[in-house]
Amino acid sequence: MRVIPIRDAATSPLLPEVTAPLAVDGPLLDRRGRSLRDLRISVTDRCNFRCIYCMPREVFGHDYPFLPREALLSFEEITRVARLFVAQGVRKIRITGGEPLLRKDLPRLIEMLAGLDGVELTLTTNGVLLPRLAPGLKAAGLHRVTVSLDALDDPTFRRMNDADFPVARVLDGIAAARDAGLGPVKVNMVVKRGTNDQGIEAMANHFRHSGHILRFIEFMDVGSSNGWKMDEVLPSREVVARIDRLFPLEPIDPNYEGEVAERWRYRDGAGEIGVISSVTHAFCSTCTRLRLSTEGKLYTCLFAQNGHDLRALLRAGADDERLHAAIAAVWRQREDRYSEIRTAATAAARKIEMSYIGG
Ligand code: SAM
Ligand code: SF4
Ligand code: SF4
Repeated sequence: MRVIPIRDAATSPLLPEVTAPLAVDGPLLDRRGRSLRDLRISVTDRCNFRCIYCMPREVFGHDYPFLPREALLSFEEITRVARLFVAQGVRKIRITGGEPLLRKDLPRLIEMLAGLDGVELTLTTNGVLLPRLAPGLKAAGLHRVTVSLDALDDPTFRRMNDADFPVARVLDGIAAARDAGLGPVKVNMVVKRGTNDQGIEAMANHFRHSGHILRFIEFMDVGSSNGWKMDEVLPSREVVARIDRLFPLEPIDPNYEGEVAERWRYRDGAGEIGVISSVTHAFCSTCTRLRLSTEGKLYTCLFAQNGHDLRALLRAGADDERLHAAIAAVWRQREDRYSEIRTAATAAARKIEMSYIGG
C-alpha cells in the first residue's frame, strides 16, 4: 500500500523565540560546529513533471492537495527573510521547488534577491521553460542555473518524467541558459539502477567538450512516496569507474569547503563531471544548508520530519530583531546528520516530500 506523503506534522513546533527571544552573539554555529552558508528557497510545490523518484503520479495526481496561493510566502516576505539570512552569513541562495519556473513573475523575485550584496544567486529547474524565461532571469540578476536531465533517450526520459516531455525540450532549455549567460550550466542526472543507469556513458559523452558540468546524483530516500530501495542506488564510485574506462578521469579539488559534489576532470581536457554521493558517502559533517519551504517553514535537513514556522512569526508582525533571533536559534539547535545514520528503518519513516521542502 502507498504511504500518503506528508508536508509536515500539523503540530510542528513553533519557534521557541515566539515567547523568548534569544540574543544573537558570537559566530552562528550549529551543535556540530557547522556555519550557515547556503539557503535554498522553494517557491512552489507544483511541477509540470511527475518524476518517478520525486512526485510519483499515483500520489501527486490531479487531486493532490497542493498549497493554496495564500499559503505561499510572497516575494516581499521571501526577500525580507533572505536579507536576514544574508546578515547571518548566507552566501549562496538557490531557488528551487517543485518547478520554480512555474511561479508567476519569478524574474521579479530574482530582481529583488539580486539586490542583496555578496550573494551567489542560482536556480534549479527541469529546464523546459528556460527558452522563454532565461533572458529575463539573467536580466533580473540570476547568476547560474542547474538543469535536471536523467536520460538522453526519449523512452527512458519520458518514463522518468512521466509527463511525456521529450529530451529535446530540456536540451533546448540548457542551450537557452547558456546563450543567456547563465553558465556554466550544471546538469543533474539522478541515477536509478535498472532505470536509467544504462545511459551514464552516453550522458558523459554528450556533455564532454560542452562547457556544461554533468553531475550524477545517487537516488535518495527523500520523502515517503518514491518507493526508495537501496538496491536501486548505483554508488557514485561505480559511475566514476564506468566513465573512467571510456574517458580517463582524475580527481580535482573542491571549489570550496563543504562542496557537495566530488569533482573529476577528463584527462584529455574535455571538461569536468561531479558525483553527489548522498547515500554511499555522506557529507553531513560539512553541511551548511538550510531550506525555506514554499509556505515559509525552515528545515535544517533535507530529510527533516518537522519544520519551524517562520511564516507564523512574519505574519504575526515580528520585527527584524525577533526574526534574527528565531533564525539563529533554529540554526544553533541543529544537529542533523541523516545521511550518516541512514538505515532501512529511517528510510521507511515518514519524511517530508522534496517537492515541498525544496530540492
Ligand atoms: N524541479 C526542479 C528540478 O527538477 O531541477 C527543481 C526541484 S528538484 C526537487 C531538485 C533536484 O532534486 C533535481 O535535480 C532532482 O533530480 C533532484 N531529486 C529529486 N528527487 C530526488 C531523489 N529521490 N533522489 C535524488 N535526487 C532527487
Ligand atoms: Fe518536478 Fe523537479 Fe521533482 Fe522532477 S525532480 S518532479 S522536475 S520537482
Ligand atoms: Fe545536510 Fe541533512 Fe543532507 Fe546531511 S542529510 S548533508 S545534514 S541535508
